[in-house]
Parts: sequence; C-alpha cells; structure tokens
Amino acid sequence: LRFEDAGLHPIMLENIKLCQYDSPTPIQQYVLPAVYQNLDVIGVAQTGSGKTAAFLIPVLSKLMGKAKTLAAPRPDLTTGFHRDQGICSEPLVLIVVPTRELACQVFDEARRLCYRSMLRPCVVYGGAPTRPQIDDLTKGCDILIGTAGRLADFCTRPMLLSMTRLKYTIIDEADEMISPDWKDTMDKILGGGELKVQDVLEVDERMKDKCLHDLMMSMLPGRTMI
Ligand code: AMP
Repeated sequence: LRFEDAGLHPIMLENIKLCQYDSPTPIQQYVLPAVYQNLDVIGVAQTGSGKTAAFLIPVLSKLMGKAKTLAAPRPDLTTGFHRDQGICSEPLVLIVVPTRELACQVFDEARRLCYRSMLRPCVVYGGAPTRPQIDDLTKGCDILIGTAGRLADFCTRPMLLSMTRLKYTIIDEADEMISPDWKDTMDKILGGGELKVQDVLEVDERMKDKCLHDLMMSMLPGRTMI
C-alpha cells in the first residue's frame, strides 16, 4: 500500500510529505484500511513502529473530508463559551495517553498532520497549571489529547468538556490503561454516567484481548482505537 493509493484527503497527503514519511510502516498498512472501513481497531506494535501516525493519519484524513460541517463551532471569543450550549469544548477525537511526555509527542504529530486543515488539536496534562489549558480549550478543540488524570479532572468540571460529538476514541498504551490502577480515572473520562470500564481486575493475560474488546464496546459514541 502506498499513501497515494490509500484514499487519503489531499491535505493529509501534503502533510505526510511535509513530515517526510515516504511509505506506510507495517502497522500503518494494517490500520489505515481498517479505519477507512469503519472498523474498531486494536493495534499492537512496538514503540517506534509508527503507531501514533497509524491512528492519526486515517482518522484525521477522514475528518478533513467532513471538516466544514464537523469542525468545532469556534466559540464566542469574548466569553470563551458557545452561545447556544454554554459548553467550552466538544472534541471529535479523544486520545487518552498515560504520560505527559507521550501526550506532547502525540500532540506534536497531530499538529503536523492537521496543518492547513480546519481541525484544531489541543493537549492537556497534569503537573502544569490548568488555566492555560482551559484557555486553549475555549479557542475550539477538535482533537483532544490528554493524560488520563487531567482529562478526568476536566471531565468532572461543569461546562468545560462535552463528549457528545466524539467520532473516535483512541486509547494509547491501552494494556496499561485498562489496569486496575487506572480504573477509577478511566471511568471518569469514559463513563460520564452509566457507561463503565468493564471489570478487568480479575483477568489473566490470555483474557486481555477480550477485556480490550469489551472496553471498546462499552465506550463513548463513535469508533474506538486502542
Ligand atoms: P511512534 O511509533 O508512533 O512513536 O513513531 C516513531 C517515529 O516514526 C516518529 O518519530 C514518527 O514521526 C515516525 N514515523 C511515523 N510514521 C512514519 C512513516 N510512515 N515513515 C517514516 N517515519 C514515520
């Protein structure tokens, strides 16, 4: 598969060239067509294999095709809130990652791949003041990348984030994120009410795929990639 033959949006093809990616890596060869067929995806590959771009390229490319109708209504800049709903930010894509470093890496790649499109990425993470991150969200956010802790914090604040427009949810390092340590935090992000991360506490390694699958089935609206 070549990027040129993958049905990608022209802006995405340009951005891939700017990133100097000549051809898709093996994980990208698998994930790209799967996303185009609207499948849920569990991608397993080593660090450095191009996993981040494997989900970003097809997801962002598909949204670029619909950007005019889908991109976040830019808020009233004097108040930072949408006039009609009063909610600050309604992303189309949610990307949950375990660490601040990874959040920044994914954001960097998302920013390069969103270049000259209508899509606006934002990143939020702990260990930094919340105010600048909230201010950034108020400017409109289509692609929200964040560490689980800070996302959980923001999800429980009134009028800040709404997940009702989500088309895709991506959980990076998902085998770590479904571990018991993260359960309460992930419930706050993905639950938003009655939906719950499945009980994954008692399972052994062989059941992990089933858990990941159950997790995907229990999640937010839209397609899921982990
Ligand atoms: P990752 O596995 O997502 O951490 O990516 C590792 C590195 O590979 C990153 O620096 C990417 O910018 C780069 N990369 C991703 N896709 C490609 C590609 N198709 N060709 C060359 N480099 C790539």
